[in-house]
Amino acid sequence: MTPVVPLMATDSVARFQGLRRLIGNTPLLVIDYALDGQPGRLFAKSENLNMTGSVKDRMALHILRRAYERGTIEPGALIIEATSGNTGISFAAIGRAMGHPVSIFMPDWMSPERVNLIRGFGAEVHAVSEEQGGFLGSIRLAEEMAEKTPGAFLPKQFANEDNSEAHETMTGPEIWWQLIGHGLRPDAIVAGVGTGGTIMGTGTFLRSQYDGIKVHPLEPSNSPTMSTGHRVGHHRIQGISDEFIPPIVDLSTLDEIVAVDDGDAILMAQRLACELGLGVGISAGANLLGALKIQQAMGPEATVVTLFPDSNKKYLSTDLLRDEPGRPDHLTPRVELLGFTSFNRECRTCFETWDLTG
Ligand code: PMP
Repeated sequence: MTPVVPLMATDSVARFQGLRRLIGNTPLLVIDYALDGQPGRLFAKSENLNMTGSVKDRMALHILRRAYERGTIEPGALIIEATSGNTGISFAAIGRAMGHPVSIFMPDWMSPERVNLIRGFGAEVHAVSEEQGGFLGSIRLAEEMAEKTPGAFLPKQFANEDNSEAHETMTGPEIWWQLIGHGLRPDAIVAGVGTGGTIMGTGTFLRSQYDGIKVHPLEPSNSPTMSTGHRVGHHRIQGISDEFIPPIVDLSTLDEIVAVDDGDAILMAQRLACELGLGVGISAGANLLGALKIQQAMGPEATVVTLFPDSNKKYLSTDLLRDEPGRPDHLTPRVELLGFTSFNRECRTCFETWDLTG
């Protein structure tokens, strides 16, 4: 890891520091459950508690911070990004906090809450239809706009290594120290793949501490992009399994892909809210089920970690708030959620690596 070289204007440093206190250092939840009556325990980072309510705040903050350090973004430059939602919300808020206008391209089938939240931060939203190419079309149109806009900054979350570095320097160390502080060491981490920044970055850091850890990417079984290499079928777990394998994902460095049905993920997210009071999004339900599957394979003593990437607030108009039919192969009906406690925000390293003042 290259050391941080503080090159920024004092005002930008102060703004970044202010933002940093609102992002990351999230609690690690300890969730007690029983599967077919057999007790178990899983760990999940509460990423819904970040500034705009998702894990993507970490990536947006880190990409902008790196760009300021390298001088690759001008003050007031237009930020243009393609996203399925949470990234747009993060760049809209954090970009504005740093004094930038923001323009977002996203597929037009994403939830209206996402679009309105981005607009609510004063950013411009370009809805891209299936005929215009949907997700891949959003990336192409964002690049075309950047070519025509002098000084525009394109974060390129799918290809930008600073995305995984956000998780290598923040999320991964947080998980490690939160567990070590309680006498535990992670045996496996499971995370649904959107850009792949979360699984690649946390995996890299956690492996550097314990090379026996298993690092499992997760995808919807109804639309297994990673296992097939291209878009197949449809799914309802917004934020993961877009239409291609992102360039920052290197499957050869990861362990086996875990697949979860989107209906099962919805049922689990509903249960987390109704039974534990944890208002999380659909990918959180998927991640918990993925972690549960891995724990079943590894044994009840295994310390398996996952993340709750966002909150339920962007899904109020989606199937998360509707009756979801169960299926015989679903895992959720066999699970009893018994309760949770949390390991607190006690990462020692995280603020130290954030010393921008020199
Ligand atoms: N869940 C949700 C709700 C998301 O928005 C994202 C980001 N697209 C992810 C999971 C996956 O995160 P990553 O991009 O780091 O793979």
